[in-house]
Amino acid sequence: MEHIIKGIHHITAIAGSANRNHDFYTRILGLRMVKKTVNFDDPKTYHLYYGDEKGTPGCILTFFPWGEISAGRRGARQATAIGYSVPEASFNFWMRRFEANGVTYFKTAEKFGEPYLTVFDPDGLKLELIASKTLDNRIPWETEQVKAVNATKGFHNVTITTNHIEPTDAILTGVFGYRLLEQQDNLFRFATYADNNAGIVDLIASAGEKAGHVSGGSVHHIAFRVENEEILMQYRDKITALGLHITDKIDRNYFYSLYFREPGGVLFELATENPGFLVDEPVDGLGTHLMLPPQYEKYRAELETSLPELI
Ligand code: ZN
Repeated sequence: MEHIIKGIHHITAIAGSANRNHDFYTRILGLRMVKKTVNFDDPKTYHLYYGDEKGTPGCILTFFPWGEISAGRRGARQATAIGYSVPEASFNFWMRRFEANGVTYFKTAEKFGEPYLTVFDPDGLKLELIASKTLDNRIPWETEQVKAVNATKGFHNVTITTNHIEPTDAILTGVFGYRLLEQQDNLFRFATYADNNAGIVDLIASAGEKAGHVSGGSVHHIAFRVENEEILMQYRDKITALGLHITDKIDRNYFYSLYFREPGGVLFELATENPGFLVDEPVDGLGTHLMLPPQYEKYRAELETSLPELI
């Protein structure tokens, strides 16, 4: 059987203050920080990973907190919302929590028959807490303040805004194995059948929309999940055959990656399930120490001094 993409692996976004970002995602949203490392292309900056107990693909939201950074602007050729799966009965809990913490949110709405709550992180990144109409049995990470009954279970979808859906559609359906599931006005829902969760990409077709600007509070890239390096490289051939530029295989310590800009303008990554986040830390200790790839280990003392302490 031909291998298809197994949904979202992780999503990476840009933040300002590392501490403000860490507080929002771990304390307010109740995620686990599964890895504290540096940006492998800019080691003076953190790369923070938030997810469930083990950092399971499909629930990992990562950030480059670049400190003083100008705000981005949502627009076309961009991922413009990140959807988390939550239990429907949790909406009141979340609204009270956002209210109490001064977090901006909108009243609940509905799309594709699924109620959702829109909320913005401190940098303005748009998140949607969505009560999925498909069964979601994923076990959430639980904290003192955010118990499992209310907690996010991982990604439900990601939304891309585009002028015309055809170029992105061609990658999703023609290469990744997604299919068009539903349409509601100018909103198109695509899904992979390889996985029940984190398998949805929604495209908003907005012909007149200006291109967005990727900076603070914006999604930097969406990583899609493949099982292993062999399948990863098969996708490299498929993308190359379309005449698109794609990087060589890159070792990201916790997965192997390829990056390419899909013709709709969004940076896509393909990332392997192996080796995962337990490769350099035990499950109990995930996210508790600064983990560095071998090439930066010699700068550890310097980096530990210069990177802000997360409190
Ligand atoms: Zn990535």
